[in-house]
Amino acid sequence: MSNCLFCKIIAGDIPAEKIYEDADVLAFHDIGAQAPHHFLVIPKKHIATLNDVDDAALLGKLTLTASKIAKDLGFSQDGYRVVMNCNEQGGQTVYHIHLHCLGGRNLSWPPG
Ligand code: 5GP
Ligand code: ZN
Repeated sequence: MSNCLFCKIIAGDIPAEKIYEDADVLAFHDIGAQAPHHFLVIPKKHIATLNDVDDAALLGKLTLTASKIAKDLGFSQDGYRVVMNCNEQGGQTVYHIHLHCLGGRNLSWPPG
């Protein structure tokens, strides 16, 4: 998608602090971090929202990639949160699906 911010990051047209990349997914630090650790895991394939996904293996890979990075970065034992916002009321602002992974502080519940 030529007008998609995250497709541009995948293509290298917009810089990002990449953490992990393979044929299916890319992980990079969130530019507006809401916690000491805050990164995003995205599929390389453009998918606009969670409502548009039918690939269970890909969704599983996003989640497992997040947990592996949390382990590698050393905050998995303290704890962290993974969340995917969907559409306007869910707080989605970039319409290329992405799993947020936040850690490094106490996260309140319920979220705002
Ligand atoms: P959403 O609100 O769609 O769930 O999350 C979008 C996230 O993308 C936000 O947390 C925002 O800070 C992040 N973001 C927006 N633009 C950029 C960018 O250009 N680079 C990076 N690394 N993150 C971005
Ligand atoms: Zn995209």
